[in-house]
Amino acid sequence: AMSASAPTETERLRTPVQYLKGVGPQRAALLRRLGLRTAADVLFHFPRAYEAPGERRSVGQLEDGVAATVVGVIEDIDQRSTAAGSTMLAVLLRDGNDYLRGVWFNQPFLRKQFAVGQRWMFSGKVRFRLGRWEMAHPRTQRLAADAEEDGSAATDGTGAGQLRRLPVYWLTEGLNQYQMREIVRQAIEAFAPLLEETFAAEYREAHRLLPIAEAVRQIHFPDDETRLDLARRRFVYQELLLLELALAVQRHQYTVKRHATPLEATARIDARIRRLFPFELTGDQKRAIEQIAADMGRKVPMNRLLQGEVGSGKTVVALYAMLLAVAHGHQAVLMAPTEVLAQQHAATIERLLRESRVRTTLLTGSLGRAARAERIEAIRQGEVDLVIGTQAVVQECVEFAKLGLVVIDEQHKFGVRQRATLKHAGPSPHYLVMTATPIPRTVTMTVFGDLDVSVLRECPPGRQPVRTYLASGDEREAWWDFFRRKLNAGRQGYVVTPLVEESAAVQAANLETTFEELANGALHGFRVGILHGRMASKEKAAVMEAFREGQLQVLVATTVVEVGLDVPKATLMTIESGQRFGLAQLHQLRGRIARGSQPGYCCVFCDGASADARKRLEAFASTTDGFRLAELDLELRGPGDLLGVRQHGVPPLRIADLVRDRQTLEEARSDAVEIVARDPGLRDVKHERLRRMLLHRYGRVLELGLVG
Ligand code: ADP
Ligand code: MG
Repeated sequence: AMSASAPTETERLRTPVQYLKGVGPQRAALLRRLGLRTAADVLFHFPRAYEAPGERRSVGQLEDGVAATVVGVIEDIDQRSTAAGSTMLAVLLRDGNDYLRGVWFNQPFLRKQFAVGQRWMFSGKVRFRLGRWEMAHPRTQRLAADAEEDGSAATDGTGAGQLRRLPVYWLTEGLNQYQMREIVRQAIEAFAPLLEETFAAEYREAHRLLPIAEAVRQIHFPDDETRLDLARRRFVYQELLLLELALAVQRHQYTVKRHATPLEATARIDARIRRLFPFELTGDQKRAIEQIAADMGRKVPMNRLLQGEVGSGKTVVALYAMLLAVAHGHQAVLMAPTEVLAQQHAATIERLLRESRVRTTLLTGSLGRAARAERIEAIRQGEVDLVIGTQAVVQECVEFAKLGLVVIDEQHKFGVRQRATLKHAGPSPHYLVMTATPIPRTVTMTVFGDLDVSVLRECPPGRQPVRTYLASGDEREAWWDFFRRKLNAGRQGYVVTPLVEESAAVQAANLETTFEELANGALHGFRVGILHGRMASKEKAAVMEAFREGQLQVLVATTVVEVGLDVPKATLMTIESGQRFGLAQLHQLRGRIARGSQPGYCCVFCDGASADARKRLEAFASTTDGFRLAELDLELRGPGDLLGVRQHGVPPLRIADLVRDRQTLEEARSDAVEIVARDPGLRDVKHERLRRMLLHRYGRVLELGLVG
């Protein structure tokens, strides 16, 4: 005869919610609305907050509508049924000469736990009704009969006699907090012991991690703050460890699978390249170059992110890497997100390479058909060493003869995951990705965790500070006055307006209006130009050129100027409706006027800004440290907003918080690196469960080859 084998623990954890205690078909439907289908789902439906018990008060001190905790002796218990068939339980608590009534509806089973003469603590919101104090469905705790007045000797072994904090869950209509708590409580009783432990006992010991069942219990119904923190820590650590493991495994596989030609920076090559630079490199530039040279000297392709403040001198560092490739007879390509930037890079690089024999070419969309075909062919034949172009054009059209290095200058456009795929023969090229947005370390460790990172923090010497002002209302006049004086002294300036409308057409119209107003008003008589994303690229280039040459004194623009435009004489920046910009974006804009040897002046108009927005803008005005602003942006808006993290398709973090859990993140990262170094395939039995969890959570997105 066949006999069904007993369900495993995993199978039991998949018990549909309908069969949980206190849940029937109706509530099961409600739970499913919250995404809770199984017992395990309920266990991991963590509270969104905790409710602290009200302050301890005597009945004489109670206030209507305010939560409180009251201790007293039970004087009377009354249970009755109403006509409608429901029941009401009323327990009268005496505190000196005053009384408080606790009432419960439809919970007749509670009757058994109370007896006249016992000391109890009731906690909840009090109401004054019909001349007496009442708490509906209070939280209760029995105290020893001889307990101190402050209730310090609780009988249930929790020690302090404090009422515990209660979980507050996300709910759905038809399900209240009280019911949800009971469902979770029952689920924990029945199912938490079945949970499979991820970490061995020694590991938990060494890393201060609670066992899984205990952590689940404590995160829902914490005994005290300490245990709540520990429970949270366990889940945060686990979540971050998994993420860091995924990234570490991915990095490891990259090093195993991909091969590059080592391009070593010999002393001779190094000296030859450095001779081309007309200035002393900053310490950060030297360090970044060392790291890059070390990477490129290996057989594994470099995969590095170069992070640097606007104007910190990333181009030179990239050029070093490119020349290193060229010195070994390889080609290098530098791709910019826009045509303007590509042109600017080409100009800078050609200037620096005037004395060298390096063959450079520019490849953008605005080239004529014939010229473009010719250049593409030259690249294919290996007659060109350095290619500078827009990512779109290079990626689509070019086949390289011998590609050694790819540099992606994406400023703050984060498509890092969609790494460029270029047509080329032979081994994989080395990769260098540049970004001008300061990224907090917590974010580089997560979102960019598969890249090595170099940072340029210090700017080249001689940089002048930018002063930032917030202005509104009648302060405008004073600012424009100042603006005009500076223009008359030979400076140039920007006026930037935010994206107010979705449509590019409306946006351009808005900009036109601002332009008209200025040209006929505050900036009457000055040479003012306009620049926006809707203009043809030729037109844009012409305006930009006119501004660079000084034919235009002022550029009224949308955030296009944000992207890397480098005009040393431009030292003035007016930002309209500053509250509509993110901190990172404001910082980028301000970077435009920190380029020359003259101090910059940035004025942010913030008419109509909310108090919150105003606070953000004040922070912006108070510091020019991009990393500090980035941290702040992260706190205010979260990583998703800051970096478009969601675009990458990596599942968002559920429990961990990159600001609050910074330290745990560092810990998880170094643990993950260590684990993968010892056991790259997570083959060890003790990593079995981690491996399964990793595949489950990140397998698809990160294409982890852990199976088989
Ligand atoms: P970004 O990091 O914004 O791309 P760039 O590479 O465009 O910065 O550099 C900004 C300016 O600083 C350029 O004009 C560049 O020539 C100059 N520069 C770069 N490094 C140094 C240095 N070490 N000393 C002096 N000037 C430098
Ligand atoms: Mg740049």
